[in-house]
Order: sequence, then structure tokens, then C-alpha cells
Amino acid sequence: MTSTDTDFDITIVGGGMVGATLACALADTGLQIALLDGVKFDAGKIPFSKAELTFDPRVSAISPASRQWLEQTGAWQEIAASRVSPYTGMQVWDADGTGSIQFSAKEINESQLGFITENSVILKSVYNRLDQLPQVKVMAPSRVENIERYMESGHSRMKITTEDGNSYSTTVLIGADGSNSKIRQLADFEVKEWDYQHQAIVTTVRTEIPHRAIALQRFMDTGPLAFLPLLDNSPGDDQHFCSIVWSLVPERAEQLMAMTDEEFAAALGGSIEHKLGHIEWVDKRFAFPLKQRHAVEYVQENIALVGDAAHTIHPLAGQGVNLGFLDAKALSAEIHSALKRKRPLDEFAILRRYQRQRIGHNLGMMWLMEGFKHLFAEQALPVRWLRNAGMSGVDRTGIVKNQLMRQAMGAP
Ligand SMILES: Cc1cc2nc3c(=O)[nH]c(=O)nc-3n(C[C@H](O)[C@H](O)[C@H](O)COP(=O)(O)OP(=O)(O)OC[C@H]3O[C@@H](n4cnc5c(N)ncnc54)[C@H](O)[C@@H]3O)c2cc1C
Repeated sequence: MTSTDTDFDITIVGGGMVGATLACALADTGLQIALLDGVKFDAGKIPFSKAELTFDPRVSAISPASRQWLEQTGAWQEIAASRVSPYTGMQVWDADGTGSIQFSAKEINESQLGFITENSVILKSVYNRLDQLPQVKVMAPSRVENIERYMESGHSRMKITTEDGNSYSTTVLIGADGSNSKIRQLADFEVKEWDYQHQAIVTTVRTEIPHRAIALQRFMDTGPLAFLPLLDNSPGDDQHFCSIVWSLVPERAEQLMAMTDEEFAAALGGSIEHKLGHIEWVDKRFAFPLKQRHAVEYVQENIALVGDAAHTIHPLAGQGVNLGFLDAKALSAEIHSALKRKRPLDEFAILRRYQRQRIGHNLGMMWLMEGFKHLFAEQALPVRWLRNAGMSGVDRTGIVKNQLMRQAMGAP
């Protein structure tokens, strides 16, 4: 085990939701752990006031499996006490047909399907948890610029150099640095990339009719639109706020971004078929280009990729961070198990076992999303008929539907 301020056993680069929770989970290993991020997380920036009607525009639909992971890392209690919105149902339908599916927690004897949580609420709780874990040295802002493998007493290790001129050494380097991962680029991991030709517009809205904790998703040939129900956990919460994720072809996204709030609200209300009445208020809009990326391998000697650094997936199924949490959980379990078996940390088999557990599952989910995107963009009549019939068929077939729900909830 290493023991100076610059030598670590495990260094996680990227303190987003995936990297920061992984750091929490590894804190009990007795190893020296470093967590580096190019940006210092600032809890003061969290928009928390109902009076100002502000929510973080970046939210995640958290599966029950992810909730368990957040419990395991010690962050869930604070998340649950701040602002989290359990959702009990989901209605998915097709814009041009009769196809629709309703998912309900009751059908599978659960109290909710999952939770809508602002990313900044998760991060705030995870960083508060890290404050209680002196085993993890958090260094931010500290942006990685270079990495190099070297040998020391017959063991291979990594040297990390940051933009501010510091350098660190580590036995295991974990790239949790998001979809444009520097670690992935520096280590020359091969990546398959599909440009979705989609932009995602995200914002928060207030609706005339309460959402009743039900998520809505409507598929159009220009892309899917999701309304994710938000609660602010205050007494008398009126269930009128939703987070919007609207994936669109770029031309339409540009038009919508250029509209006034009133024009945008009218277009949005029409696109969700006024299921929640008028859109009464719209917060600032943000647009992101959507790309699907997948690293062909997640591991090399001394290096592992987790979360969006390994795979970036279309947000239509709300699975990105859920898959990332499952990566972090699998890697943490492999490291704990290796330590129990007294294996040296630079043993490549530890990382390979992590990859074997995760790569097939992640790829399966990515292909499913790719299939969905094409299926709903397809104009040909037989395909449109089949998808509508398929959706309604699934809706009537309890076993298939329950299996779909269980999978989305993070069941293996
Ligand atoms: C519009 C939209 C909606 C989404 N909705 C959902 C949803 O409902 N449910 C869901 O599960 N997922 C959703 N996702 C996906 C989810 O947001 C991502 O999967 C998740 O944020 C990835 O987390 P991460 O920790 O892997 O990466 P990130 O959150 O990208 O964190 C990476 C971190 O690495 C740091 N970093 C980068 N480069 C360096 C460097 N060189 N040196 C040091 N640090 C560095 C960054 O500062 C950052 O803090 C959505 C995504 C989008 C775009």
C-alpha cells in the first residue's frame, strides 16, 4: 500500500456521479484513494428555492438498483431528505398511431418505478459523504493532461500529470471522466461512435394539471419527448413541475431554441398532446448534441473506464447514469474481492473480470436504444403499423411488460 500525498493505490479521474460514488465505495478498502476533477463541485450553485421556481435542468431517472448503490455509498439518506421525486407510473405512446404502453409500480407490487433526482442534489450528497471519508483525497480543480505507464519493483504503475503541473503515481487509474474522456483518449482506447443527429433540449416547466407522479414519453418521428415529474418535497407540494428532455433532429431543435418562452411553451404543450394542460412557465433551455459512444474494451493494464467514459447512451430510456452506477458497483466488488483474496492490485485479471461483467449488459442496452431510435424515426407504413401493434401487444402481455419494467429498474 502506498502512503504519500502523491502516491496512490487507486486514482479516479472524474468526480461526476459515477466516479464520486465509486470513491465512496472504495473508502473502506484501507487503500490510498485519490479523486481528481477538473472542476471543483460547488454546492452553493444548487438551485434550491421553490420561491424562485428553480430546479437543476440536469436530472436523472434513478432506478431502484441505483438507489441501492447510493445507499451502499452512504449518500442516499441525504438525497432522500433533500429533493427526490418517486414516480409510480409511466405512459409511453406513439405520436402517429394507437400504440401505447402504461407502466405502473402497482403491477409489479412495488411502491415506485424509480426516482427523478436532480444531478446536483446527488452530487451534493455524495460530496458531503466524501467529506466524512478521509481515506479519499479529493483534488479539484485538477485537470489531467497526461498519463504514462512505468515499472517499479517489478510492478507496473501509472504516472498522472495535471494541467497545473502536479504529478501523481497510482497502481490503478480509473477513467470516470465522462463522454469526452481524456483518459480514454490518452490511453488510446478504441471507440465506436454513432452520431444520433439529435440534439437534446432540457428545461423545467410548470404545467396546468398536476403530474400525479407519472412520467410521460411521446415518440415522434423527429425524436422522443419526456416529461419527468418533479417534487420539491415541501409541505403542500403541488406536483406541477416537470423536467423536460426533448430529443430532436437538429433543425427542429434550433427552431425551438430560437423561440420565445411563450412560443416554446405552446409547441411543447402541443407535442405532449396537452396531457398536462397548458405549459404555464418555462425555465431557461439548454441544448446538448447527442452521440452514442462505446469503448471496444473498458480495461487495459492498470486502467479501467467506467460510466460515460466507457459508454454514452441516448437519454430516451434514462439509463446513462444507471449503467454507470452498475459499472462502479461491479468494479468496486472486484477490487474488494481481490483484496480479500490477497491479490496484488496490479493483477490485470481484476479489471478483466469487471469488464466481462459489464460490457455485454451495456452493449445490449445501447443496441436496444439504437433500435428504438430507428424504429420511431421510420416512416414506412408497415413499420409504423408493426410498432404500434407491438407497443399495444406488449401492453397487454403482462409477462413481457413486467420483464421490461424489471430490466429498466436495474434488475440483472
Ligand atoms: C439530456 C440528458 C438527459 C439524461 N437523463 C438521464 C436519466 O434520466 N437517467 C440516467 O441514468 N442518465 C441520464 N443521462 C445520462 C447521465 O447524465 C450520464 O450518464 C451521467 O452524467 C454520466 O456520469 P459520469 O460520472 O460517468 O460522467 P460525467 O457526469 O460527465 O462526469 C465526468 C467528470 O469528469 C470530469 N473531467 C472531465 N475531464 C477531466 C480531466 N481531464 N481531468 C479531470 N477531470 C475531468 C468532469 O469535470 C466531470 O465532473 C442524461 C444525459 C443527458 C445528456
